[in-house]
Amino acid sequence: MNRFDIAVIGAGVFGSWIAYRLVSEGKRVALVDAYGAGNSRASSGGETRILRFSYGAGEIYTRMAVRALELWREFLHGCPETLFHATGALIAAPAGDAMLHASREAMLGAGAHFETLDSEQLRRRFPQISFPEDSAAVFEPSSGALLARRLTNAVASAARRKGAEILRGRVETPSGAGRLPCVLTTAGSLIEAETFVFSCGPWLAGLFPQLLGERIFPTRQEIFFFGIPAGDTRFGPDALPVWLDRTDPRLPYGIPDIENRGVKVAFDLHGPPFDPDSGERIVSAESIAAAREYLARRFPALNDAPLVESRVCQYENTSSGDFLIDRHPEFDNVWIAGGGSGHGFKHGPAVGEYVADLIVGRRTPEPRFALAAKQTKQDRTVY
Ligand SMILES: Cc1cc2nc3c(=O)[nH]c(=O)nc-3n(C[C@H](O)[C@H](O)[C@H](O)COP(=O)(O)OP(=O)(O)OC[C@H]3O[C@@H](n4cnc5c(N)ncnc54)[C@H](O)[C@@H]3O)c2cc1C
Repeated sequence: MNRFDIAVIGAGVFGSWIAYRLVSEGKRVALVDAYGAGNSRASSGGETRILRFSYGAGEIYTRMAVRALELWREFLHGCPETLFHATGALIAAPAGDAMLHASREAMLGAGAHFETLDSEQLRRRFPQISFPEDSAAVFEPSSGALLARRLTNAVASAARRKGAEILRGRVETPSGAGRLPCVLTTAGSLIEAETFVFSCGPWLAGLFPQLLGERIFPTRQEIFFFGIPAGDTRFGPDALPVWLDRTDPRLPYGIPDIENRGVKVAFDLHGPPFDPDSGERIVSAESIAAAREYLARRFPALNDAPLVESRVCQYENTSSGDFLIDRHPEFDNVWIAGGGSGHGFKHGPAVGEYVADLIVGRRTPEPRFALAAKQTKQDRTVY
């Protein structure tokens, strides 16, 4: 039997950063995962994720994203590989859009650098994109794309180098109440710790069915990578920013041709319910057609672009899209950290810092992250 100060269960971006923070503070940490850090089933297992500050009125996430970027940069300082591409982030919307206005206010408050572009400036600055006539945009020059699965692995490995023990095993639902002495894996290993953090992303719903079965909604999300024309330099990370397109009600977003894998396109609408263990990860013909149609309209030069890769991942939504970071109501020494809701990756380092602060009692909990704020009916307010 192993004994630790903290056992972190789930090595996605949240769990890996929580483990890294705590081991950096001298705690004895175990980081346990059923399939390994940044695995293909995990929400953090995708190739790339957007980092942006624009969150409309959700200024708590603007502040967190600013802090997270500082921490990502600190973590990556001296790293020989480029795991964050500062492509800039372009958030386009119909002129006068309330979300753009609120985002600008929040970014001013958080000290985040941004520019405002009208439709003429948009056209001149990004001629490879064709937005509708009456569009406006915010451009965040220091934002960009994070190489998600590789970063998740890099953070877990950094935690290991600092002394965390990385364990492979599927932890069973704990039973009892009060102080939890240990958890058990399905293979029969006991892991003993003073404190437990369950950062199991979309699996939280199944792990705690009574508590979270109706409060975490895993949804199927499809992602497409389209090949760019031979020799074309307009779609790489030096020329094209990551973008969010609020001029289209399906909320498309995309990432440039990073590592020559093609231009990534997806829609930010929630798909049907999805099982992260057994769900089939093959995209549908209708979705390919929808992505292709969007791409051809917004990026005329990619009209005939072939689909070169695709992925099915899942969001782990809470009712509002706010994170769920709280103590388990039945155990004194168990914390839950999840509910990334399709926007959590960028915040990994800030979540790690927040959870470490909560555990050692340095910070008061944020009411928006509380279990009590999570409803059983979805009503998304965070985008
Ligand atoms: C298609 C898509 C696009 C997205 N785009 C963005 C974006 O552009 N920007 C952004 O910031 N965010 C984005 N997100 C959201 C972001 O990826 C997630 O919010 C984040 O990765 C969630 O991380 P996590 O650590 O909570 O969960 P996960 O990464 O799912 O990690 C949970 C881990 O727990 C492990 N586990 C589960 N159950 C057990 C158990 N019983 N025992 C042991 N281990 C267990 C799993 O194996 C897994 O590794 C996107 C998500 C998707 C799906």
